Amino acid sequence: MRFINEFREAPLVKGVLEQIRRIVTRRWVIMEICGGQTHALLKYGLDQLLPEQIELVHGPGCPVCVTSLELVDKAIAIASQPNVIFCSYGDMLRVPGSERDLFSVRAMGGQVRVVYSPLDAVRIAQGNPEKEVVFFAIGFETTAPANAMSVIQAKAQGIKNYSVLVSQVCVPPAMHAILSSPECRVQGFLAAGHVCTVMGYWEYLPIAERYRVPIVVTGFEPLDLAQGILRCVQQLENDSATVENAYPRAVTKDGNQTAQSIINKVYEPCDRNWRGIGTIPMSGWKLRPEWAEYDAEKRFGVHDIQTKESPVCISGLILQGLKKPPECPAFGTICTPQNPLGATMVSSEGACAAYYQYGRNA
Ligand code: SF4
Repeated sequence: MRFINEFREAPLVKGVLEQIRRIVTRRWVIMEICGGQTHALLKYGLDQLLPEQIELVHGPGCPVCVTSLELVDKAIAIASQPNVIFCSYGDMLRVPGSERDLFSVRAMGGQVRVVYSPLDAVRIAQGNPEKEVVFFAIGFETTAPANAMSVIQAKAQGIKNYSVLVSQVCVPPAMHAILSSPECRVQGFLAAGHVCTVMGYWEYLPIAERYRVPIVVTGFEPLDLAQGILRCVQQLENDSATVENAYPRAVTKDGNQTAQSIINKVYEPCDRNWRGIGTIPMSGWKLRPEWAEYDAEKRFGVHDIQTKESPVCISGLILQGLKKPPECPAFGTICTPQNPLGATMVSSEGACAAYYQYGRNA
């Protein structure tokens, strides 16, 4: 398949890895931002094929993992109400809340449905006018345009029984937070190609300059990732710190302006609480006041939520690149994909799930 197979050619990937081996002179710590990158790196064994001087640490770019516990509990509270059809992407159903998850709500008779697009949720609202239909609008810049579009569609079609529980987060403020931490070990970033397809990469230029850190935008195939690491190592070895686009077949500097205008029409920036990490200023989006009637938090008045996180879960440290999954005492013992204690073991983009799935136990 064009644009996929040629980026999986083993000889090409080996050639790039050999180039990395030739130029690396010292130890470097590189963070891949996105959980999709983490899974691809482990799936294709790139983490094991790199020279030992290159350490990959895993970033916070897994939307399911960073959705705050408070919002998960709010989702569960809303989904438990008798007149509600609660729609969500599938991964969210098994994410542990303080007491239970959305699957348990469904098992107890709640109407929790998996959808593949927020527009499916709008259609469900249209077909069930006697019900309140709520969509769990989670995600990074990648999901924001479609999530925002669902609200625009609902308004255009006069659908009053549709609302969204918003948990939109953004990558650049999280990079600022990671780089500002006194414990930060990250010396270079692999930025996520799909986020940059929407937003472009102009937002990363001041980050590279301010923190003197190379940032390379990559795709998700093994050759994309190997080339991204090579370009990052080249910059580190040359003591340069700029933004490079190693995914030009999808990413431009300015991104998808139509998608950005849809985001800006519906959302405005806000502080967001990231699960396990805490509040990062201006790191997310919320509905603008003119769209408040579609705000599920307002519609259902879910405010006084008391959260209770698992005391053993260290996913917040993993998402900041400070720990690896096997360093968690629960990894693979009392925490498994079948019995997850934290969101990073649930999500198809979670680092703990990747280590478990691909047998990285140490
Ligand atoms: S292994 Fe489980 S408990 Fe440990 S950090 Fe990962 S999700 Fe949390």
